[in-house]
Amino acid sequence: MPAQILDGKALSKAVRETLKSRVDALRTKGVVPRLDVLVAAQDSSSLAYVNMKHKWAEAAGMIGESYHVDETWSQAQLIEKICQLNGNPSVHGVLIQHPLPKNLDENEALLALGAEKDVDGITPASLGRLVADLPGFRCATPLGITKIIEHYEIPCQGKRAVVIGRSVILGKPMALMLLQKHATVTIAHSRTQDLPDLCREADILVAAVGRAEMVKGDWIKPGAVVIDAGYNKVEGRSGDVGDVDFESAKEIASWITPVPGGVGPMTVASLLNNCVDAAEATLA
Ligand code: NAP
Repeated sequence: MPAQILDGKALSKAVRETLKSRVDALRTKGVVPRLDVLVAAQDSSSLAYVNMKHKWAEAAGMIGESYHVDETWSQAQLIEKICQLNGNPSVHGVLIQHPLPKNLDENEALLALGAEKDVDGITPASLGRLVADLPGFRCATPLGITKIIEHYEIPCQGKRAVVIGRSVILGKPMALMLLQKHATVTIAHSRTQDLPDLCREADILVAAVGRAEMVKGDWIKPGAVVIDAGYNKVEGRSGDVGDVDFESAKEIASWITPVPGGVGPMTVASLLNNCVDAAEATLA
């Protein structure tokens, strides 16, 4: 029997409807949740993602500004902008969309961002809180995946999970979040040996690689849950393609996220949810 679909698009719609009522309640108290974004001016993919984030934020009643960062910006200018946003009480969340222009030091920018406005959960302070099991903003993509897992009541305790990818924004925090759910977690990366064999051990397989359709159906343990975080452009094909070969994988897995319509929409919903949490925290 083909795998059942983990429908991130439908779940994201439900989350965003809940957000709308929370935003309406905040507005009656004079607080309008605001998400500001620093984005590379020349990066068309980043600009498209950011436009979509603003569009969904607006639909939920939120507001926000984008600052288009180009190579003429100095590091000092970037840090000054972040400090201004840190100090602006009407801004509740700040997203530093990766990648910024190459002449700028992104890590230094993240260190400058106040943890209370880090709604993407990727500053060292937020990541440290994740490692320490302390409350704080969690990275939007792995948080979105966690929400999918919870919504579909995917059991994690005692299960073997393999996360392919060890990036700071996705693979590493994903592994920690699965660990918090009591899975036994292995992180694979580009130097991992015998990757297909390792994947075949996984009850839960998360692909966060950035290589179109790398994970084939015969890498998957029968009945495994497969989460595809990948978004890849492939020449000659319209739209984005995941890291998992969906057609072969869906014949073996029990549950699977599609691309598009799986992890992507839940990433945006989780980012906006974090921003509304940040706005609500200003009233606490
Ligand atoms: P990244 O920073 O480039 O990290 C990719 C990871 O994959 C690295 O850890 C790398 O290993 C590993 N890798 C590369 N080739 C591999 C191979 N052949 N075998 C095993 N591991 C390999 O990418 P990212 O930012 O984490 O993003 C990963 C994917 O998720 C991309 O497709 C991206 O577009 C997508 N993404 C989606 C969302 C969303 O909202 N759905 C958000 C963010 C990213 P090394 O560390 O050894 O180099």
